[in-house]
Amino acid sequence: MPLQQALASPQMRPEGLAGAGRRFVIVLVATVLGLSTVLAAYFYVQQQEYSRFSFQNLVWEGVQLRNEHQAFRAALVEALGDLPGASMQEVVQRYDILYGRLDLLETGHANLTYQSDPRIRELLLHVNTVIRGWDKLVAAYAAGDREAGLRIAEEARAMDPTLSAFTAAINLIGAKRVDDARERMARLYAALIAAVVVICMLVFGFAFALLRQLKMTEKAHLDLRNMTVDLEQARREAEEASRAKSTFLATMSHELRTPLNAILGFADIMRQGLFGPVGSQRYLDYLDGIVKSGQHLLSLINDVLDMSRIEAGRIELRETNLDIGLAIDQALSLVAVTAEGKGVTLQHSVPPGLPQLRADERLLRQILLNLLSNAIKFTPEGGHVEVAAATLTDGGVAIRVRDTGIGMSDAQLRRIFEPFSHGDSLRARETGGSGLGLPITRRLVELHGGQIHISSRKSLGTTATLVFPVARAVTVGAVQ
Ligand code: ADP
Repeated sequence: MPLQQALASPQMRPEGLAGAGRRFVIVLVATVLGLSTVLAAYFYVQQQEYSRFSFQNLVWEGVQLRNEHQAFRAALVEALGDLPGASMQEVVQRYDILYGRLDLLETGHANLTYQSDPRIRELLLHVNTVIRGWDKLVAAYAAGDREAGLRIAEEARAMDPTLSAFTAAINLIGAKRVDDARERMARLYAALIAAVVVICMLVFGFAFALLRQLKMTEKAHLDLRNMTVDLEQARREAEEASRAKSTFLATMSHELRTPLNAILGFADIMRQGLFGPVGSQRYLDYLDGIVKSGQHLLSLINDVLDMSRIEAGRIELRETNLDIGLAIDQALSLVAVTAEGKGVTLQHSVPPGLPQLRADERLLRQILLNLLSNAIKFTPEGGHVEVAAATLTDGGVAIRVRDTGIGMSDAQLRRIFEPFSHGDSLRARETGGSGLGLPITRRLVELHGGQIHISSRKSLGTTATLVFPVARAVTVGAVQ
């Protein structure tokens, strides 16, 4: 896989891989948890429903009523027939028990079920009315009214079919409830089996996806290893190429500069007529042309060399504490003749008490000379170039070179730090710049941890400001 493609591929990005895997696991765990919770809740509700209903209670309470009624009736018949062992107290006692059983039926567990069935409800109402109606008759019988006893015996006998119907109806409803419960349990088991199947499938899917992820990770590792090898190889080749470029440039510069210096030297000797005058004025003009072109070529070679040295990181700062005012004065003195020749006035303003600048003296001079020569070059006769320095509020130091020259358009300004970009190609040709001055200047400033800002208005002038950080400002008298 080509390097660019491999890096752009989403599979190859480890964070993409981990993110997708993490999301997958979270979704899976949430699904399994959610399913289990729903299932557990469903089971719980069904279980509660089932436990509320007890077939035994339902039937037992109804049967007990019938049994108590039989016992009461038997005690009454025995007492009425004066059988040995029978007594009126026994009859009253049995009636109390039967009465109590009625109360139990009304308040007991099964009552709700009884009331929910219209047939049972009707039978129970009837039984209730009749049995509770015996209250007064039992009291009368106990007081010696045999007629009352006979009436109860008659009514009690007539109650038998009603009570049988009551217990039969209870049995029926009980059986129906048992069937319902069985059906519900069957449904519950079906749901349980379905849930187990789903969870099994999920776990199977999870394992499958995990295996796939594992394979992808292994492949990504392999690709990364290959890529690292490729990168290492590319780095070695780049280093080799850079070394070859530097050697080539160094050799070429030497090879170019030596004959160029000879050309310049001989042309100058001839121009000055050291070994006799040059015959024709035209030859003198040509010699001027040779010297100018040669000087331009020399500065171009020097700029290209500087640039390549900076790019290769081969420039080391020789730092000392510099007096900013002095550095500015020295730079101004170097361009004074040129400025005077062009009719451009040079000014400078350096306030007292300015901190010293920790910088490379030669490089700072080169920075200032680049800015000053541009300012003079692009300022017409009668214009001004001013250099000023100041301490910034954060303790840093700023140096400003301002001219009243031709200035630049916004479009020119945007490309000003691109190597070989001439803002105005016609003028550049006239002025003979390499188009490397500002890119070199910016890199040199950045080597010092500083920044360069350039602002300009067409026909109004240009201001270049160098800003050095507080770490570069050395207060005079401070111990280093
Ligand atoms: P050069 O060596 O050609 O001057 P620079 O990188 O120093 O290269 O400048 C690039 C271009 O920026 C110049 O050709 C010019 O058009 C523009 N420039 C730079 N400084 C000034 C200035 N002070 N006033 C007007 N134009 C400027």
